[in-house]
Amino acid sequence: MSTSGDTARAPSPHGDFPGNLFVVAAPSGAGKSSLVRSLLARDTAIRLSVSYTTRAPRGQEVDGRDYCFVGREAFEQRIAEGEFLEWAEVHGNLYGTSRAWLERHMSNGADVMLEIDWQGAAQVKARFANAVSVFILPPSYAELEARLLRRGEDSAEVIARRLLQARVETPHAASFDFIIVNHEINHALRDLQAVVAAQRLRYAAQRRAHPEVFAALGIA
Ligand code: 5GP
Repeated sequence: MSTSGDTARAPSPHGDFPGNLFVVAAPSGAGKSSLVRSLLARDTAIRLSVSYTTRAPRGQEVDGRDYCFVGREAFEQRIAEGEFLEWAEVHGNLYGTSRAWLERHMSNGADVMLEIDWQGAAQVKARFANAVSVFILPPSYAELEARLLRRGEDSAEVIARRLLQARVETPHAASFDFIIVNHEINHALRDLQAVVAAQRLRYAAQRRAHPEVFAALGIA
């Protein structure tokens, strides 16, 4: 069905880094992109990674903003050169996260978000133990279908394929750290903001954010 870059590179022993790494996945139509967009509009400290893909641009998508659109050969060349932190085949197209982009932002201490599929999320978790993974669930398969139809972006055949795929993807929610049921976008947005806020309050993150406080208080 799908392949991924699980064997492309051995897991990095580097399990920690300054800044927080959030990984958000969902079946197509669950509202992930709108949710992430709304979050980023309110939280300008988070950088969103722009993935590479072999899929053709849709509607208003812009190269370099929504995705870096490349041919399959160029993508495979990047795989061979180890340029992807993770990559996977989804709905017949290849998608991957730039290792260089991520390392650059992470080393600057930025909070980074990856909007990727469950296969990529598993690869990221294997490399970065402290990445926080979030899976967005639709309230039901019927509602998922209704949303895909309302979106009006895909043909009936593509929608049918995405729905079948959703039934394969959704059970992988079990391996994520957090689950958000997207009944209603504002409620789901508050849930996602709560996950981000909680992660920023973890001991290691607070120690990185406020070294002077920890030093003054004599905390290791
Ligand atoms: P779409 O083609 O609808 O934009 O995305 C299809 C799926 O591919 C979505 O689940 C999306 O999150 C996922 N995806 C996008 N970028 C990446 C990536 O860099 N890596 C992986 N593994 N999946 C991605």
